[in-house]
Amino acid sequence: MNHSPDRTRVLVVNSGSSSVKYQLLDMADGNRLAAGLVERIGEGPVADHTAALKQVADELSAQGLGIDSPALAAVGHRVVHGGTRFTEPTLITDEVLAEIEKLVPLAPLHNPANITGIKVARQLRPDLPQVAVFDTAFHSTMPEAAARYAIDTDTADRYGVRRYGFHGTSHAYVSKAVAELLGKDLAETHTIVLHLGNGASASAVAGGVCVDTSMGLTPLEGLVMGTRSGDIDPAAIFHLARVGGMSVDEIDTLLNKRSGLLGLCGDNDMREIGRRMGEGDQDAQLAFDVYIHRLRKYVGAYTAVLGRVDAIAFTAGVGENSAAVREATLRGLAVLGVEVDTVRNALRGTSARLISTENSPVAVAVVPTDEEREIATQTYRLVGA
Ligand code: ADP
Repeated sequence: MNHSPDRTRVLVVNSGSSSVKYQLLDMADGNRLAAGLVERIGEGPVADHTAALKQVADELSAQGLGIDSPALAAVGHRVVHGGTRFTEPTLITDEVLAEIEKLVPLAPLHNPANITGIKVARQLRPDLPQVAVFDTAFHSTMPEAAARYAIDTDTADRYGVRRYGFHGTSHAYVSKAVAELLGKDLAETHTIVLHLGNGASASAVAGGVCVDTSMGLTPLEGLVMGTRSGDIDPAAIFHLARVGGMSVDEIDTLLNKRSGLLGLCGDNDMREIGRRMGEGDQDAQLAFDVYIHRLRKYVGAYTAVLGRVDAIAFTAGVGENSAAVREATLRGLAVLGVEVDTVRNALRGTSARLISTENSPVAVAVVPTDEEREIATQTYRLVGA
């Protein structure tokens, strides 16, 4: 490591499709100096991503933490899709930016917003190293057996049709945090991570290395999500086109925005679904049951993929907060060595904690994710190297 003692701060920019999240961290002591969110880009006073980034710069200046500060060592950017080209945190150059732009067809909603964030930050601080941290990177270690779809290889390669996986920064952070919580060596720890937010994905991590994950070419594959279907027979798409007369764009919108929990019951927020279930609402109950059934299948599948599981970790909005989802997902899995302690599970908390019984062979953990901190850590490591 070769960090200047005066330049220990990292600004993390997560420029998403309709919001920009940011955090300023001091890597010398790990303190978070500032954090914020600019929402509803394009809908109100914030016209576009350039305006949103300018607002972030203004908010930081107002706190005396301006982006012009000499204490800033680097800016770390979340980039959703790195394709097969980017498997590590990468120092951004014109060439790298052009490569990220080439990946837009694989992530048409996300990569353009990420790119704008990078461009504005480079304009504001052209002298500063800017680092891209990719959502797909952590999954690049998946063996071909897990990363390939069973389709014609030439066609797959020509169009980049393979399984990339997403939420990688979160899966990386949580699998490390689990090993720490258990007091085990990361290299010795086999973990199933369940990242359950509005988007949701599962991963199988063997010794800190991702060996399978539930999202694929795009974030649509896998678990039931807030508004995404997750796994579905691809022939349903042909059927909707031929018999339903729907266009490709209409089916895209259906599966990404009008499906999942929302499609099944009209609500995509697990809190509201829980409330409705309490009133005996059958649609809400069905949505919950489909969501849980899919999760249990992935837990079983990833137990087989890993061979030996040391821990199952729940993270993100639903995973960190819904005791009902955690309990239902792992209920009756003593056969897999999983025993949830219902009292521990019901306790709320803000730090990483165990919710399994003392004697459960597989530890069950709730781990608050922190993608921004992980991006800062990876960024600082790269610029100090
Ligand atoms: P995103 O994918 O947008 O980053 P989050 O990880 O913030 O999502 O998760 C958002 C989701 O978390 C909400 O849609 C909601 O369903 C769920 N959630 C938040 N708090 C609770 C809670 N107390 N109980 C159940 N679900 C919750």
